[in-house]
Amino acid sequence: MNFNLPKEVIEIIAKFKKQNFEIYVVGGAVRDILMGHIVYDWDFTTDAQPSEILTIYPDGFYDNSFGTVGVSFENLDRPFEITTFRTEHGYSDNRRPDKVIWGKTLEEDLKRRDFTINAMAYDGKKIIDLYGGQKDLNNKLIRAVGDPNERFNEDALRMMRAVRIGGELNFEIEEKTLEAIKINSTLINKIAKERIKDELFKILKSSNPYKGIVLLKDTGLMQEILPELMKCFGVGQKSPQRHHIYDVGNHLLMSLKECKSPDPVTRFATLIHDIGKPQTYKKLDSGIITFYNHEMVSTKIAINIADRLRFSAKEKGKFVKLIRFHQFTVDEHQTDSAIRRFLRNIGLENVEDMLALRVADRLGGGARETSWRLEEFKKRLFEVQKQPFSIKDLKINGKDVMEILKIPSGPKVGEILEKIFNEVVEKNLPNERKVLLKSITVLVQ
Ligand code: ATP
Ligand code: MG
Repeated sequence: MNFNLPKEVIEIIAKFKKQNFEIYVVGGAVRDILMGHIVYDWDFTTDAQPSEILTIYPDGFYDNSFGTVGVSFENLDRPFEITTFRTEHGYSDNRRPDKVIWGKTLEEDLKRRDFTINAMAYDGKKIIDLYGGQKDLNNKLIRAVGDPNERFNEDALRMMRAVRIGGELNFEIEEKTLEAIKINSTLINKIAKERIKDELFKILKSSNPYKGIVLLKDTGLMQEILPELMKCFGVGQKSPQRHHIYDVGNHLLMSLKECKSPDPVTRFATLIHDIGKPQTYKKLDSGIITFYNHEMVSTKIAINIADRLRFSAKEKGKFVKLIRFHQFTVDEHQTDSAIRRFLRNIGLENVEDMLALRVADRLGGGARETSWRLEEFKKRLFEVQKQPFSIKDLKINGKDVMEILKIPSGPKVGEILEKIFNEVVEKNLPNERKVLLKSITVLVQ
């Protein structure tokens, strides 16, 4: 079989063969070639030892914990990774082989790989497919290599990988493999949270995050990694005069399905925006169900989740804001300063994603995509930003505030200036120095 390979790949294969080494493209790259996808990560496996690989590519970077040599090319973003055949022995902690041993043959190396579609090799001329990978590829199936039970016991992350790759490729998980995930789901707790987060974000980034998340739920993995979300299923919210057609959990899933933002943090926030509802559920005598203050409880849970899954500070900041403020009002009687406060709370850079969450929330609850109020609100978001006037343009400044009130510099000064600024924007005060100086004392009374 001939594929259109980059010239660097052809060069690597030729150089190794010239030295009488075996060399193969392997893993996800072969899967992607066969599917006609663009290959981002080129992985190779060879019978050459790392020191021998380095004689062929002296500038290669050797990472001795994995026995991998990275080779960079000028016009390629990512280095190629060349790894000596490996076999792995003993997984006493369900996550790391106790020792990695060089293998002697390609067969051994393919046998340790996770799924049949990831366990094929290509030598530049033909595909080596020992486990029926091509058949599973054609049938869109994720199937463990060998006994799925054993494989998930060796390395529990493979269960998340099955769900993730299934979601990314829109494949189903083969029956026995799926069954084994259900049986072994609690083993995922042995895996480092960073790695779980990594897989979870890949699920969320994929073209069908809904499918991946439903799979997490159905396999029991959600119960382990997001137990707070599992609690939302079965919590009803249908009540007189309310539009809700789903229980909380299914509303959250449907919201994710409708989320138009490609950002995994926004998608995640959309998925859990009501996660505090089970704790705030109240059914009044009238039959009406309320979730008073649920956004604050959801925020607390979001902070826990972000910490538990080791979000970066930036990811956590955005995640928490989107959830904390998801109930923002879009009332046509809001003042400009209320809209400005909203923008400050959310951060300009997050406004678009906050709106994406709102639209997803509406659609995921069976409402129309937008309302005239939401459209008005969006217009006003732009209008208040267009106003060229800022605090700097006031005819008084922080020094005036400090002198008149005899207070030192600090957040208080900014707060007072902001109050005066809002009064000027709302046209309650003219931007005249004399008037504003007077207003300083009035405002703190
Ligand atoms: P992607 O690059 O899209 O994440 P991939 O299948 O290439 O998908 P990698 O993490 O790049 O995944 O791993 C490369 C190859 O290494 C896989 O195709 C698979 O053959 C093997 N592999 C990776 N992780 C595991 C694992 N936990 N257990 C067994 N084999 C694995
Ligand atoms: Mg890869």
